[in-house]
Amino acid sequence: MLVDSHCHLDFPDFAEKLPALFNAMQTNGVSHALCVGVTLKGLPAVLSIAEAHENLFASVGIHPDYEDEDPVDVENLVRLAAHPKVVAIGETGLDYYRLQGDLGWQRERFRTHIRAAIAADKPLIIHTRNAAEDTLRIMREEGAERIGGVMHCFTESQTVADQAMALGFYISFSGIVTFKNAVALKEVARQVPLDRMLVETDAPYLAPMPYRGKINQPAYVRYVAESIAELRGISLEEVAEATTRNFFRMIKRTRPCS
Ligand SMILES: [Zn+2]
Ligand SMILES: [Zn+2]
Repeated sequence: MLVDSHCHLDFPDFAEKLPALFNAMQTNGVSHALCVGVTLKGLPAVLSIAEAHENLFASVGIHPDYEDEDPVDVENLVRLAAHPKVVAIGETGLDYYRLQGDLGWQRERFRTHIRAAIAADKPLIIHTRNAAEDTLRIMREEGAERIGGVMHCFTESQTVADQAMALGFYISFSGIVTFKNAVALKEVARQVPLDRMLVETDAPYLAPMPYRGKINQPAYVRYVAESIAELRGISLEEVAEATTRNFFRMIKRTRPCS
């Protein structure tokens, strides 16, 4: 059994395609998925998908690429996170690749999410792009190690992975690890201890090989796990077992019997 720890099933790419997606999950041994929120306006759609499916979870947060969202405060996030299907806060973090200029608002919003996660006692889903140094600094300044969480769609160096793991965070690998040219990331996927690792699709983005360039879906997390198993010279079952256990430990929910 595998878990897709990060996908966006509320995106328009998937409208009316959900039944087929759930069938494909079953066929590929993907038992659960976490539907990650990126805006508060989009949250009702994320929640209604999670409410309708026993094996789906949800998260609450505003993605750093969404500049024009209304300001959010800790209280509001904590209140929204009380929904029974919400297991994490995010995605949040810093993105200096997509957006440039004065990104003080992005850092402030990231701090608000960390404070909300601590107050709500729910793990953080952190997105970081071209901003590892500031991301780690803010995590430390805000005491993110009190709550932990995941560095999602990890593309940074081993040093960054080590620093995030020292703060109690998991490292989540996406389809990027299956790409031929992702040489440095493959090495990180060899080094990160199995008990600190998660797998994800970030669907509809970043489809793994052999579907690179197509619309991604939770079932394809299997290819991510297979690629990691191959890199480490272990079985797919070992990767599935470890990453699924890690996921349920992170969200503090009882793992369903298999
Ligand atoms: Zn992201
Ligand atoms: Zn995402």
